[in-house]
This record gives sequence, structure tokens and C-alpha cells, in this order.
Amino acid sequence: MLRDNGGVTDRVTTSSGALFERALAVTPGGVNSPVRSFSAVGGTPRFIRSAAGAWLHDVDGNEYVDLICSWGPMLLGHAHPEVQAAVAEALARGTSYGTPTIPEVELAEEIVARTPVERVRFVSSGTEATMSAIRLARGFTGRDLVVKFAGCYHGHVDSLLASAGSGLATLSVPGTPGVPASAAGETIVLPYNDPAAVSAAFAEHGERIACLITEAAPGNMGVVAPTEGFNAFLARTCRDHGALFISDEVMTGFRASKQGAWGLDGATEGWIPDLMTFGKVMGGGFPAAAFGGRADVMSRLAPEGPVYQAGTLSGNPIATTAGLATLRLATDEVYAHLNATADTIKTAATAALSAAGVPHVVQSAGTMFSVFFRDGAVTDFAGASAQDSGAYAAFFHAMLDAGVYLPPSAYESWFVSAAHDDRAVSTILDALPGAARAAAIGSA
Ligand SMILES: *Cc1c(COP(=O)(O)O)cnc(C)c1O
Repeated sequence: MLRDNGGVTDRVTTSSGALFERALAVTPGGVNSPVRSFSAVGGTPRFIRSAAGAWLHDVDGNEYVDLICSWGPMLLGHAHPEVQAAVAEALARGTSYGTPTIPEVELAEEIVARTPVERVRFVSSGTEATMSAIRLARGFTGRDLVVKFAGCYHGHVDSLLASAGSGLATLSVPGTPGVPASAAGETIVLPYNDPAAVSAAFAEHGERIACLITEAAPGNMGVVAPTEGFNAFLARTCRDHGALFISDEVMTGFRASKQGAWGLDGATEGWIPDLMTFGKVMGGGFPAAAFGGRADVMSRLAPEGPVYQAGTLSGNPIATTAGLATLRLATDEVYAHLNATADTIKTAATAALSAAGVPHVVQSAGTMFSVFFRDGAVTDFAGASAQDSGAYAAFFHAMLDAGVYLPPSAYESWFVSAAHDDRAVSTILDALPGAARAAAIGSA
């Protein structure tokens, strides 16, 4: 417990281990989002006191190169001076007014300029963005069913936490207690990268399908890029059946490339999602997210149309200021640096794991990448699940001990930032051979 010791911070009660015990006493699992807990890799989560550039500093005085970047948002690195200055300036003018403000218009203009969406509505989390996009798709089409892919995460929306119940194109069962069977029963879960399964589901249920939602390039089962033409096929299939195609770019938006994952396929193939969702990078480290798309669909939203959607802190001036500053600083040079840095790390990881004889495959989508601890390309969730998570846990802890903070789960993307410089990258490269040997021993 926190003790009064005359204003002197007690190091013992504020170490990561002691803080985690305090947290466990007041918060389920000691964390406010499950994967932070280290339950997938074992051990005690580090409590971070501060971060700058590519580095995290924990309460015990350790520093780590950050390969999570707050699960994506910190594209420019932590505490970027220009973003900090913009936020400080906005903060001095008050934190929330519940009225329209300048930065939300400017951020919306920036998003419309970079992506194919014509209108955007801001919300405070990616979950809210996908939930609202689905409500809008249902309101627009007058239909109820939603198609999603196993292994794609779209936030903790009831109908999107369904898992594949009895296989192909069956109406599914809830993936967690607390989701009504009725909500899960509105969701069709299909294997990713499987056009035949999509065609079969639309052939059977096409007239009842409101929308198909997919991660534009999945990063929530590790990075599993769409096979060539898959997103184009999804867009076409939806159009042919009068359903809306929702591309979830909460993770990939302004991250996979300057134009998100859409910049990697849609921009050159010439298709456009009906609706898109954004979050993470566009909030610059604050809670901000958005959904947007075709003007005729977005105009069905209140107050223009009848589909209700609202938020007390939506478009918050501090969050939109941080997002705007981040996007304005996210230039072509930044994305070139992210790609080059990712390539260096991927090459070194492959070399180290090969030298140690650890089965692995490195996969990417633009600047995002991850390592699967198994042989052979991973194209769907079943493939992602068939990896050696024991080997990953050993690898993760060896990297952590060597000062590199990887995602505490084998099912997450690795993220780099514009602030990952030579010192940060050498720390990673120096840590890899030892971690690869640990993975070889830890492998089940
Ligand atoms: C993170 C994420 C979400 C959920 O966003 P939250 O802000 O955590 O609610 C939704 N979709 C994708 C693809 C994500 O990566």
C-alpha cells in the first residue's frame, strides 16, 4: 500500500513488482487492457514512468527501446517536441468546450486529403469507430448481418467479438461471456484470405448482409497481409450484393504507409471502401478515432440523417491538436525511415533466428511487421495459431532483459517510429542473437 513517509517516494512500493501488486488489488488483472498484463508471456509488466523518442523508462530505472509505440500511435516517437508544443499551446486554451473547434475541422480535412473518405466523424476510440460504422451500415442498408474474418480485431464491440462457431459461413457463437447469442448470431465469421468462403457466405445470406468489415491489412493476429487482389475482391463482392465494405484502418491508417494500408493496394488498384475506420496514429497518443466514407452514406448520420451517433468528448481539441500535429509531421521522409528501419530489424531477426535454428517467418504490411515462430507463410488465423508461443515467450523475455520492449504476445505487430535512430536499432540488433538462442531453448 501507499505509505506516508514524509513525502519521500518509497522505492520498494513503487517498483514495477510492487505497483503491479497494488494494481491487482484495485483493477482486474492489474491492467486496463488485457494484453498489457504479460499473461501471454509470463512475468510482471513494467510500469513506465516516462518516454522520449524511441525509449521507454520504467519506474525501476531501466530503459528499453520501444517496439510497441503505444500499440501503433507513436509514429513520430515519444514526446515529440513539436507535438508537445502544439498540445501545450492548446492546453492553455482549455481542454474541452462541447462546441465545434478549429483543430477538428483541420484534422478532418487532413484525413480527407490523405484517404478516399469524403466525410469523417470523430469518436474517442477505435471500438467506437467500428461500432458506429456498423450501425451506420445497418441503418443505410436496412439489413442486420455483419461479415468479419477470424483473427481480425475491431475493438470490443459485441457483434465483433464473435468467433467462428461451427466453421464456414455459419452464424457464429459469442467469443466471450457477456455477448448475447443474438448479437453474435448477427455475425458471420470467415477464414481470412479465402475468397471461396466469402462467395459462399454471400451466396447464402447476401440479401441480409449489411456490411463486411475487415482489417485493411490484419495486424491483430500478427501481420497477415491480404493476398493480392483480396481487398478488391471484397469491395466488388459487397457492391454486387448491395452490402457496404468497411475497411478498418484503426491500426494501419497513417501507419502502414502515408495513405495507410489502402495506399498499398486500393490506391493503385482503383477501388474505394464505402466506409473506413481510423484511430491510433491519428490521435497522436490521445484518445481520438474516426469513421468516414462515402458522402451519401455518411449523410445518413445524425443530425443530417436518422442514424444516431454522438460523444461528449468526440473531436476533443487537445486530442485533435495532437493528431493534426502528428499527421502534418508524418512526411514521405518519415515513412521512408520507418520502412528502412523495419527492413533492418526484419533482416537481423531472420539472420539471428536462422542461425539459432528457430523456425520462423517474418511478415509485413508496409511499415508494420511481425515474426511468427513457425515455418511457412501465414495467411489466416489458423496458420497464425499454429506457432510456438513458448518460443516467443522465451524470445520476448531475453529481448526485454537486453533492453528491447516487444509486444508481450506473439499475435501482435511490431512498430517502429521516426525516432528509432542508430542507437536504438543497434540495441535491437545486439539483443537478437541471444534472444534467438533463448527461443531455441524455450521452444516447446
Ligand atoms: C486497436 C484496434 C481497434 C480498437 O481500437 P481501440 O481504440 O483500442 O478501441 C479496432 N480495430 C483495429 C484494427 C485495431 O487495431
